[in-house]
Amino acid sequence: MSASKRRYVIIGGGAAGMAATTAIREQDRLGSIVVISEEQDMPYFRPMIPFLISGKKAEADMALAGRGPYQAEGIHIRTGVRVIRVEPEAHQVYVTGGEKVPYDKLLIASGSLPNIPADIKGVEAEGVFALRTLDDARKAALRAKKGGHVIMLGGGMLNLKTAFSLLERGLDVSLVVHSPQVLSQLMEPEDAALIRKALDMAGLKILTGCNAERIISDKDGVTSVALTNGMEIPCRMVFIGKGVLPNVDFLSNGPVHIDHGVVVNQYTATNVPDIHAAGDVAATFDPATGKMIVAGLWTNAVEMGRCAGNNMAGNVTRYGGAFGIQNATQVADVPFVSMGVVHTKGNDFETHTAESYGSYRRLVFSPDGTRLAGAVFVRDISRAGLYRFLIREAMDIGRIKAQIIDHKLHYGHFVCSPLAKGG
Ligand SMILES: Cc1cc2nc3c(=O)[nH]c(=O)nc-3n(C[C@H](O)[C@H](O)[C@H](O)COP(=O)(O)OP(=O)(O)OC[C@H]3O[C@@H](n4cnc5c(N)ncnc54)[C@H](O)[C@@H]3O)c2cc1C
Repeated sequence: MSASKRRYVIIGGGAAGMAATTAIREQDRLGSIVVISEEQDMPYFRPMIPFLISGKKAEADMALAGRGPYQAEGIHIRTGVRVIRVEPEAHQVYVTGGEKVPYDKLLIASGSLPNIPADIKGVEAEGVFALRTLDDARKAALRAKKGGHVIMLGGGMLNLKTAFSLLERGLDVSLVVHSPQVLSQLMEPEDAALIRKALDMAGLKILTGCNAERIISDKDGVTSVALTNGMEIPCRMVFIGKGVLPNVDFLSNGPVHIDHGVVVNQYTATNVPDIHAAGDVAATFDPATGKMIVAGLWTNAVEMGRCAGNNMAGNVTRYGGAFGIQNATQVADVPFVSMGVVHTKGNDFETHTAESYGSYRRLVFSPDGTRLAGAVFVRDISRAGLYRFLIREAMDIGRIKAQIIDHKLHYGHFVCSPLAKGG
């Protein structure tokens, strides 16, 4: 079959699915593209949904449709349709209602689902949320109108963003964290100090070193949360932010290799011919550590989705890998970036920290000092892209190390070749 008549099917209308759609259309003007999305809503910017709760953004501000070629001829976005099985031998997917959708090239871009720990009892009560979809945000925004105390379970980035949105809305918010600090996966305690200070100033109450045991409710929904430290805190809403799990149910018992996520090679291909995977659902490699990871970030999903789309359309493109923890976001109006190796306790990485004018920077170099392995920037995140490039390409930093440490790195350093002699 010639590339121009290909039937592309994409499972998932999120960041990876829509980036792949764009890339395919750039390469192949004639093939048909069917995007199958379980959600009723047309594609939207998922990281923005907490702003629906704060009231900072309206639904229309989050829409992806119309910002790309998604509605061009030959692209069919089917919302409210769930894929229940993939049949690789027959080259078709089964959707709810029994319909079979044939494909020549298939992309699995089904994202992830919130992890709901089995040991927390009562999670099904009304007023308990695990924010993932626009519809979740709508329901949470509606309940938030009634006011009252909110308990956030988990100190990761998603929960902190949501907590801040609720504070901005004027609600009383407490965060319950198992570890001794917030953002423990993204940085060391001293790195998180500035963010913690901003959260304290914003009025967030933080309880560290404990977990939720039970969510207690009555006919109107949640009324309190019982904690492992014996406390019981009254509340009207609970948000569970305990990480995410790849959305792979519909692949169970099939031939697609799954190990945490859908395992892909450097060209985003799975072990099954004509099936690729990208985004939160995919297990790919981390160039900073060489290990397999499931990244869970919008930027990664877009980059990987684009790469998969290119490969599906025949434009062979190598994927550069996803950082274990790489993110540019802001919590309590404090922007931060965390990338590559950031947890260094108990090993011999070389680290440099600097704090000035309310900004914080931590650089992690390889034990022999020749490569940048990781970085954390809080508040001043300028030039983070340059540092990201150095880490991702595992470049020999040679004579520019002093400039890196002094934060004087600039684009000119990348013009000199080789970099190690560039200075
Ligand atoms: C509240 C929140 C805040 C966030 N903030 C940030 C941030 O600040 N920075 C950042 O980098 N990342 C952030 N993220 C993470 C980011 O949104 C994800 O990494 C990104 O959306 C992943 O894109 P994806 O395309 O892989 O998956 P998704 O966006 O999850 O899309 C997957 C799609 O597949 C559909 N689907 C799943 N299963 C099926 C099926 N069986 N049949 C049909 N359709 C199916 C789903 O309905 C969904 O629409 C945030 C996430 C949330 C929830």
